[in-house]
Amino acid sequence: METLTNKGVSCFPHKSNKYRRYYVKKDKNVCWRCTNKACKARIETRDGTVVEEFGFHCHVETIVNASATVLRTACKRKASEHDYLVDNFVAADSDFPPTLWAHAPDVMPVTTNGDESKS
Ligand SMILES: [Zn+2]
Repeated sequence: METLTNKGVSCFPHKSNKYRRYYVKKDKNVCWRCTNKACKARIETRDGTVVEEFGFHCHVETIVNASATVLRTACKRKASEHDYLVDNFVAADSDFPPTLWAHAPDVMPVTTNGDESKS
């Protein structure tokens, strides 16, 4: 499971969070800290297996690359929906431009269903 970051630092993904190595104990257990600098969560591993977990994550961050991909996909979907609306209903040369649907009502342009009409 142990991998290297692009800076060459040992990095250990565990339960959706990444840890970087900061200390090797005398008994050869390795201590890791969450890569989130503000986070106090730590783990300890022996032979690549997590043997101990300390503290709690102060964040809901998962492995950054994975969540960024999801976010990007969501944004892309939203953008294409927006483009669809603009292309079909808003642009002057669209199939259904606002001149077709955005105009004052033809009959009874003033509303008559408000409270004041009852008196
Ligand atoms: Zn953390």
